[in-house]
Amino acid sequence: MLDENLPIHDVLIIGAGPCGLAVAARLCEPLPSALFTENEHQKFHLLRSSTQRRWKATRTSRRSNIGTDQLLSGPCVSSDRLDIKVLDADGDTWMNAWNEKFESLNISHLRSPMFFHPDPRDRDGLLAFAFMNKKENELKEIQGVVGKELSKHHRKKKQKGGKRIQETTYIDERNRQDYFRPSQALFRDYCQEIVQRYGLSDIVEKSQVMSIVYDNPTSVFTIEASTGTKKARTVVLAIGSGQTPCLPQDSPFHNIPNPQNVTHIFSHLNLDSSTILAPSVLASTSFDHPKILAIIGGGLTSAQIAELASSQGLSKVHLILRSPLKTKHFDVDLCWLAKYKNESMSRFWKADEDRERWEMMRDARGGGSVNPEYREVLKTLVREGRVKVWEWTKVKGARWDDEQERWRLELTDTTEEVHQVDVDGVVYATSEAADIRTVNVVRSILEEHPIEIVGGLPCLTNELMWNEDIPLFVTGKLGGLRLGPAAPNLEGARLGAEFISSKIAILSSGWQRGVKDSDESPAEEFDMGRLGLGRSNQFEILEYDSEEGGNVHSVF
Ligand SMILES: Cc1cc2nc3c(=O)[nH]c(=O)nc-3n(C[C@H](O)[C@H](O)[C@H](O)COP(=O)(O)OP(=O)(O)OC[C@H]3O[C@@H](n4cnc5c(N)ncnc54)[C@H](O)[C@@H]3O)c2cc1C
Repeated sequence: MLDENLPIHDVLIIGAGPCGLAVAARLCEPLPSALFTENEHQKFHLLRSSTQRRWKATRTSRRSNIGTDQLLSGPCVSSDRLDIKVLDADGDTWMNAWNEKFESLNISHLRSPMFFHPDPRDRDGLLAFAFMNKKENELKEIQGVVGKELSKHHRKKKQKGGKRIQETTYIDERNRQDYFRPSQALFRDYCQEIVQRYGLSDIVEKSQVMSIVYDNPTSVFTIEASTGTKKARTVVLAIGSGQTPCLPQDSPFHNIPNPQNVTHIFSHLNLDSSTILAPSVLASTSFDHPKILAIIGGGLTSAQIAELASSQGLSKVHLILRSPLKTKHFDVDLCWLAKYKNESMSRFWKADEDRERWEMMRDARGGGSVNPEYREVLKTLVREGRVKVWEWTKVKGARWDDEQERWRLELTDTTEEVHQVDVDGVVYATSEAADIRTVNVVRSILEEHPIEIVGGLPCLTNELMWNEDIPLFVTGKLGGLRLGPAAPNLEGARLGAEFISSKIAILSSGWQRGVKDSDESPAEEFDMGRLGLGRSNQFEILEYDSEEGGNVHSVF
């Protein structure tokens, strides 16, 4: 297809993970929870269903000028909304990479609480979904965070007694229902429900994006992807860290081509739980041939691999960490999530410069940690002699023993003492630091439109845009300097979607749009999409209903 015949998508999202889904859903949600109180929200839904209005299409795409034979398949969400297209290197469905990781590692429950999800409609949506579908038994309570706050009187008393003041990040009893963890099955079904609700299932295409170029005169992006060239008015980068998982630079295996039985856990997708450990490591595991694995990394994934490896019959696991094994409920400290979140985020946004924000992020996340549940799992495995935890330890060297067909690892701790361990396989579960300078997709944008970078993260506008002239949005981990310490998590997904959609609403009002042929006048309809994007006043809908003859008062 010639370039000039290509459809120009209103929004092209790269990445069909939680952040991409949050943006697409938010762009389609007419009544987002952030803009409405719960009461208002319910009333609007009641009003909408009671008037039984048929929601008519508002044409928002230039597509009617293009022959259907010239269109790429399936990019249009619905004729009354923005033309959104999603490209994902991993699959042609939403959340493919997420679901694969959870399945391959046999992870039963998320680490995060109930209000971490990509649904723009309702903060409590996941909780409601669990109850509506009678899946309450799939929630695990997060022990020890609720109801432990001391009263002001007790705190003062302790202060007077010279005792250390308790961390004031415990959660009020009335928010107890938030502090459960959903099962992966429940979360997967909920994300699927979001996809269905907004009619987003057919817009994802499996395609690896190689480059993005912005043409200033036409204000159109050209995206080169493995499935061909695409055009878009706005692009959203929702690619996580944007790095391909690989062995760290300082690993002794880094310069060995294809080291046998050494891998990064996420370096190849399409894994399943029986092959996550190299088959040769698992093969002939028996009493006579005990198999030993080394896992490098101090995060929750390492603990999950250790549990999986033990359940698959490996005799011994060496868990090797640079620092001590830290225990935290979430990746970020509680004060960034619970009732002091607003205060923490206000400090974050008010910081004088991005360097300060980056330092706040680093301190709030503080490297890898396991949650209390997995701390217990590890304790049990250590007690049984199946896992040995090496804290403050690095893998300094590695040598393949041809005879034994094993690696001999040299480990050093802070005292520089060297220990040797023989292992059949090595799995790295280290996370990749986000660095926009190494993200291939934006290489030409970086060259042509340089941006300030702090700690590897781009200094975006407040709406997560590249700069005021280039409508390239960046969300998730790479948007950390605007989204705060929870940016790499599901909480960052919802916040990022909120920022981005408000800006897209402003931009889209300037785009040339026609009106879809219809036998009813467009003036008779209320564009709920504009309402959701904050471009229309919520009270206009009441005016519209009374003009139409509907008796709004009878609804309430
Ligand atoms: C095992 C595990 C468990 C986790 N559990 C939780 C949890 O319980 N709660 C929580 O809040 N967080 C959790 N996290 C963190 C989690 O990674 C993030 O919450 C979430 O995945 C971030 O979403 P994202 O959309 O930014 O990135 P991702 O989920 O990484 O999705 C990015 C997508 O972009 C695609 N992509 C990348 N580059 C390109 C390209 N060039 N072209 C096309 N497509 C591309 C990728 O294929 C991928 O599908 C977990 C992480 C892991 C690894």
